[in-house]
Amino acid sequence: MKNYSITKIDTHTHTYFSFDAAENGNSPEKMCEEAIKKGLDAIIFTDHLEVNHEIEHAFAPLNITAYKKQCAEAKEKFKGRLDIYTGVELGQITHYPEYAEEIAKTGSFDYIIGSVHNTKGEQDPYYIDFTKVPCDKIIYMLDKYFDEYLQMTYVPYVDQFAHLTYPLRYIKKAGIDVDVTRWDDKIREILKNIIAHGKTYELNSVYVRKDIVLPEDHILQMYKDLGGEKIRLGSDAHYIEHVASGFDKAYELIDNIYKGEIK
Ligand SMILES: [Zn+2]
Ligand SMILES: [Zn+2]
Repeated sequence: MKNYSITKIDTHTHTYFSFDAAENGNSPEKMCEEAIKKGLDAIIFTDHLEVNHEIEHAFAPLNITAYKKQCAEAKEKFKGRLDIYTGVELGQITHYPEYAEEIAKTGSFDYIIGSVHNTKGEQDPYYIDFTKVPCDKIIYMLDKYFDEYLQMTYVPYVDQFAHLTYPLRYIKKAGIDVDVTRWDDKIREILKNIIAHGKTYELNSVYVRKDIVLPEDHILQMYKDLGGEKIRLGSDAHYIEHVASGFDKAYELIDNIYKGEIK
């Protein structure tokens, strides 16, 4: 993949091939038109492939063939105007590592981002009303979350590690304040692995859109102190208009820490 200026590529986007965006009208073509409108040089489609859901038949599986076909058509249509990559967001890799590895090998995706949405035996925080969850349970859930995330950073085929603060989005939105420094040691291990394996850290710009404060600056500072240099922005768009949304503010946060080192 070419070296794009950080605000010119959206590395985390969903089309209507994602189970949770099927009704949003966000075809690859429409997403590309929006990317051009926003002035991007490139877009990576990363539709959900939730490893545990596929095995446990929880949601409709990703239709890889149809997804790739429409992405290829978009590549052809926007040639010379926008670079398009067909990636995948692999969720819960460590729940079924052999299945995940098989997909990574046979799917021939341009880019793979790794995510933990729900830990083993727990619900995706998206569906949880945290105002009803006792404090010690929240801490237990975050313990589990960072453990599973750390395990994922040993997986060799993941290019980019997505939204490390994922559960905190929903905990924060419920008005609950959690001091993330409690997990600093684990987060440090995660970041060290990302750096040691030459992988990319994703700054997910959802927090800008949702107008919540996440410990992104704290984590990025740690990443910088450890020598982390590879960062990419991802909007996590599930709707057309969200392509590259929040990039200006998210870049400001990066620049406050990296002082012009990352462009
Ligand atoms: Zn999603
Ligand atoms: Zn995700």
